[in-house]
Amino acid sequence: MKLIFVTGGVISGLGKWITAASIGKLLKACGYKIDIMKMDPYLQIDAGTMSPFEHGETFVTTDGFEADLDLGHYERFIDQYMTSKSSVTSWQIYLSVIQKERRGDFLGRTVQVIPHITNEIKDRIKAFAANNEVTIIEIWWTIWDIEGLHFIEAVRQLRQELGRENVMMVHVAPMISVSTSGEMKSKAIQHSVIKLRELGIHPSILVCRTRESIDDDLKKKLSMFTDIDSDHIIEALDQKSIYNVPIALQQQNLHLLIQERLLWEKSEPDMENRGKLVYKMMNPKQTIHIALAGKYTHLTDSYMSVIEALQHAGVSFDCAVKIHLLDMESFEGKNREEKLSAYIKEHEIKGIVVPGGFGSRGTEWKINIANYCRVNNIPYLWLCLGLQIAVISFARNVCGITQANSTEFDEQTIDPIIDIMEDQKNIANKWWTMRLGLYEAVLKKGSKVQKMYGQDTIQERHRHRYEVNPAYHEVLQKNGMVISGMSPDGKLVEYIELPNHIYYTATQSHPEFNSRLDKPHPLFVWLIKACL
Ligand code: GLN
Repeated sequence: MKLIFVTGGVISGLGKWITAASIGKLLKACGYKIDIMKMDPYLQIDAGTMSPFEHGETFVTTDGFEADLDLGHYERFIDQYMTSKSSVTSWQIYLSVIQKERRGDFLGRTVQVIPHITNEIKDRIKAFAANNEVTIIEIWWTIWDIEGLHFIEAVRQLRQELGRENVMMVHVAPMISVSTSGEMKSKAIQHSVIKLRELGIHPSILVCRTRESIDDDLKKKLSMFTDIDSDHIIEALDQKSIYNVPIALQQQNLHLLIQERLLWEKSEPDMENRGKLVYKMMNPKQTIHIALAGKYTHLTDSYMSVIEALQHAGVSFDCAVKIHLLDMESFEGKNREEKLSAYIKEHEIKGIVVPGGFGSRGTEWKINIANYCRVNNIPYLWLCLGLQIAVISFARNVCGITQANSTEFDEQTIDPIIDIMEDQKNIANKWWTMRLGLYEAVLKKGSKVQKMYGQDTIQERHRHRYEVNPAYHEVLQKNGMVISGMSPDGKLVEYIELPNHIYYTATQSHPEFNSRLDKPHPLFVWLIKACL
C-alpha cells in the first residue's frame, strides 16, 4: 500500500486538487492502479447543504453522495468514478467514533482524539487504499488551521506504521511577489514547511504556485530552509488550461521523483493523446458564445461541471466556448424577451444552457427564456431544474395551462405540473426525498435523444426532489412535446424534446458530471453542433 498525501500552505484556494489530480493522471498514465481521496475537516456529513455561493457546485457521485466539487475534478482528470468513500469529513469520523462509543466498543476506556479519532481516519484511508497500487489523498486544510490537525496527526502515524518508502508528502504553497518591486518572496513557503515539520511531517516534494519561473538560486535557498532537495522543488506556473498542468509537471519529472521515492522502477507516462487534446483546446480555430442562465452568476465555480462539459464538447469542433453568465437582474421588469433578444445579438450568443438549481428566484425569467428559445429556434440544453422550467413554459405558452407551475415555486398553484411524487409527500426529513445518484432511463425509439446517446437505455446522475406530474404527461404530448426518456417503470420523465426545433433538449438528470476532455458528453456535443 502506497500513499501520497497532498497538503497546502499559507492560503487556501491554491488548487491543491490540481496537484493531486495531476499526480493521479501521471501515475495512471504510467500504468499504475490509482485512486484519489479527499479529507475535509468541515463539520458537515457531506456537501449537500453547503451554499454554492461559498463552496461552488455540489458534485454527485454515482452512488449518490453529495460531494465537494474537487471530486468532479478528480473524475475528469483520472477518468474514474468517485464514490461516497472518496470523501471523508470530520463529522463522518466523529459520528462513527461516537456510535462505537455508544455501542460499548471501547469498554469503558476514555475516548480521545488520539488514538480514537486518528485510528478511525487511518482505518478509512487503509480500507480505501487496500486495492490500489497507490492512493493520492488531498487534505483540505491550510497550515495553521486548527480544524484539520487530527488528519495531519493521523498521516504522521501512518508514515511511521507503513514505512517511509510507502508514505510520501507533497506540499503545495504559493510564491508571493511584492507588487511594487515584483520580487519573489519565499518566506511564507519556508514557514509553512517549518510548521509542517513541527507537526512531524517532512514533505519530500514542494510544489510552488507561482506566476514566474523559479530560478536555481531561489530553489537552493528554499531547499536550505525547508530541507527539501532543490531538484524536488517543482514550479506550478499559471496555465492557460488546467488540463495542461499534468503535462507541465511531467516536464519537470514529477512522476520520476515519485517513483524514486516509492522505490518503483522508473517509467514514462503515455500522455500523447492528452497532449494533442490540450493543444487543440489551447489553439481553437473559432470561438462560440453560449449563455448560462443560473442563479449564482458571479461565481463560475457554482456551475463548474456544466462549464467544463461545454469546453470539452467545443474541443471536438476545434472551438473555444465562451460562457456568458446571464445576470437575471439586468433582465428584470417588462420586455424581458426583448432585452434577451438584444443581449443575444450584442454578444453573438448561439445557444443557452440552464443548469440545475433550487428555489424560486429567477424562475419566471427562465420561463421567458424557454419560450423565447422555443419560438426563435435557438439551441438550448436545460438540465434538471431546467427541464422543469421548460415544461412549465411549454404548458403555459403552448398547452394554454396559464397557471402551470412547480410546487417548489408556488405551493398553492392550481396546476402543479411539477410536483413532489405522492409517496414522498409525507416524509418529514426533506433529505430523504431527494433522488440522488445514478438512475436509468429508457429512451424513446427514433427520438433525438436516443440518436445522440446511440443507446436505448442510459444511466445518468440525479439530484432533485420534484418531477413532472404524471397527470400532465398526456396533455404535454398531445401538444407536441416528445417525452423522449422515461424511468424504466414509465412513471418519471427523464428527457423531453421538440421535434421541429434545431435543438430543444432537457433532462431531469445531470449529464455534465459524465463529461471528460477525451470523452465529451453527447448532449453537449450535439448542442455545440447545433450552435455552430
Ligand atoms: N429544485 C429542483 C428539484 O429539487 C431541481 C434540482 C436540481 O436542479 N438539481 O427537483
